Amino acid sequence: MSELPTSIDDALQRARRLGVDRLDAHLLVGAVLQQPRSWLLAHDRDPLPPDAAERIHALLQRRAAGEPAAYLLGHKEFFGLTLAVNPDVLVPRPDTETLVHWALEVLAQPPSHTAAPRVLDLGTGSGAIALAVAHTHPQAQVTAVDASEGALRTARLNGERLGLAVAWRLGSWFEPVAGERFDLILSNPPYIAEHDPHLPDLRFEPRSALTAGADGLSDLRRIIDQAPEHLQAGGWLLLEHGWDQADAVAQLLRDRGFLGVAHRHDLGGHARCTGAQWAPCRAGTLSGRDALNSGYEP
Ligand code: GLN
Repeated sequence: MSELPTSIDDALQRARRLGVDRLDAHLLVGAVLQQPRSWLLAHDRDPLPPDAAERIHALLQRRAAGEPAAYLLGHKEFFGLTLAVNPDVLVPRPDTETLVHWALEVLAQPPSHTAAPRVLDLGTGSGAIALAVAHTHPQAQVTAVDASEGALRTARLNGERLGLAVAWRLGSWFEPVAGERFDLILSNPPYIAEHDPHLPDLRFEPRSALTAGADGLSDLRRIIDQAPEHLQAGGWLLLEHGWDQADAVAQLLRDRGFLGVAHRHDLGGHARCTGAQWAPCRAGTLSGRDALNSGYEP
């Protein structure tokens, strides 16, 4: 057998032997040949041009070594949008669509009855959450924050390509939105423990987007702690977290004085998102914490 694949069929067989997922193999071969999947199937015995064979060989090797297909292709589908991705940003996960669906549910009944609800996405990465919301709920005024310049550059580029208006801000969590309040705050922050045994599997993605302290909760704690200063009365904070962190996040929200703690499940059936409302109260005078301390029942 020669070093390089001789046909599409040969490339796909090699991919299988290397343990590369069939869909990924199709996408990678299709990207090199710039052809859709249907074309690949119809031409699977055609000889491959040598330069294409070389590029396909290299991509399959890299994929087999664990590099995410999204980085090799340079893009990833999220919530029906094609987003540019690169190693500066986490690859958007289908599970995160759960958070977006929940956000749209909340926006369907905006707490402050404003025509243009203000939405904040913290740690936006590729811009996935912010852009999905801006696309699906065009009335929303979306602001997105990331501490990584590379990530924010990628997110801004995605916004421009998709023609979606989002206010992109560089900084750590709430730092760039000091003094501002929102109707809805969303985040899929880093939530993996620093010594989690699964981290080697994620070695191609930015460590700063993945880990958060010894228990994985340090960024979630910080967001929950500071969110009330940035929420309108009745505003919602919705968070994505690890499959086993739902109870811990719910407790943090209650301890901070949030009300109506609820969960949403991901495609695998795990309670993947936890959220709550800040002081849905009369006249906007009681904060959530005061409301609890005074025995106030919404
Ligand atoms: N918000 C982005 C996403 O959901 C990035 C998340 C992150 O980097 N932790 O894909």
